Amino acid sequence: MKIAVLPGDGIGTEIVAEAVKVLNVLDLKFEMETALVGGAAYEAHGHPLPESTLKLAKDADAVLFGAVGDWKYDKLDRPLRPEQAILGLRKNLGLFANFRPAICYEQLVGASSLKPELIAGLDILIIRELTGDIYFGQPRGRRTAVDGHFPGAEEAFDTMRYSRPEIERIARVAFEAARKRSKRVTSVDKANVLETFQFWKDVVTEVHKDYPDVELDHMYVDNAAMQLVRAPKKFDVVVTGNMFGDILSDEAAMLTGSIGMLPSASLNSSNQGLYEPSHGSAPDIAGKGIANPLATILSAAMMLRFSLNQPQAADRIESAVKDVLASGLRTADIWSEGNAGSASLRKVGTREMGDAVVAAITKTITKG
Ligand code: NAD
Repeated sequence: MKIAVLPGDGIGTEIVAEAVKVLNVLDLKFEMETALVGGAAYEAHGHPLPESTLKLAKDADAVLFGAVGDWKYDKLDRPLRPEQAILGLRKNLGLFANFRPAICYEQLVGASSLKPELIAGLDILIIRELTGDIYFGQPRGRRTAVDGHFPGAEEAFDTMRYSRPEIERIARVAFEAARKRSKRVTSVDKANVLETFQFWKDVVTEVHKDYPDVELDHMYVDNAAMQLVRAPKKFDVVVTGNMFGDILSDEAAMLTGSIGMLPSASLNSSNQGLYEPSHGSAPDIAGKGIANPLATILSAAMMLRFSLNQPQAADRIESAVKDVLASGLRTADIWSEGNAGSASLRKVGTREMGDAVVAAITKTITKG
């Protein structure tokens, strides 16, 4: 099992270190190799996704990714910005399906900004198409950018497009995923305004004929954004395009209390995948040792399940995370000042949280 480990920038290095620690305590053999990506790679090699990093990722069964980016790179030309590394990896590895589960852990119901009854037991899956849409259309301005901006330009544009095979394959992924859950898919579009999304809706409806056991409904993206905060538990699997998925999956993430809890998987057609937390490099807290490593640790669990065919090890990590939360440990993002008086809750840093997950796994291995 070959894993390319790409920590990236900001809190990326801190949280990936904890996930690696967790993988190492499992009684499995991994070949892990680490490489630079994002701003760190730009500093060392002049490019956010150097050839050597790309090759490592291509040759691996899975990529464990931290996060990339920092405000200090905002002035770079777009192709050299750290975030381009992610787009490059998605494109080169053909990662077209992004799985973003939004699960509300029982112990964190109070961390959500929504009322407990709306959020308790939430378990939805957002499936975002990753390689098409406006992010990969024709670029951007009519003039060459200067420091990433367009001084004096009269307009800028990005074209939105989807091809039939791109929509068909993501629709199939969504219907297959729904078959393993409660057999309901909501396809989110903007067919009332955008030709691209009328086409999306038509193709999803056609593919649905092959999945008569799965219920399909369609929803406009503005309504979906509203329903996600009004009655999130009404959703099960949500499938949508690249840009809407980007936005809705962050919204869904926040329903659960903290973006620091949510893993993600991006898969290609042969189940090779890139696994990363749903959040970014959090430059505001980088180096402070307070970032929540659980989203990355849970991403490693998804990696074991989807790409490395080790579902039991994945289960073991996920139940260790639940045990650690039940034992009262909280990083700053899932800590509220109201917790301070509680004897059963304790505020911890990144490393202590990682150590606690390791200890919880070790306990189950010893018992087993
Ligand atoms: P962000 O997700 O990095 O941070 C948003 C907020 O959430 C911040 O207040 C941050 O402190 C907090 N946060 C994020 N992860 C946390 C964690 N694990 N524990 C505790 N708190 C956490 O988003 P941003 O601030 O908009 O972007 C920062 C940089 O990250 C930018 O350069 C952006 O382009 C980049 N980014 C990268 C990715 C990626 O690598 N896939 C994704 C999103 C943003």
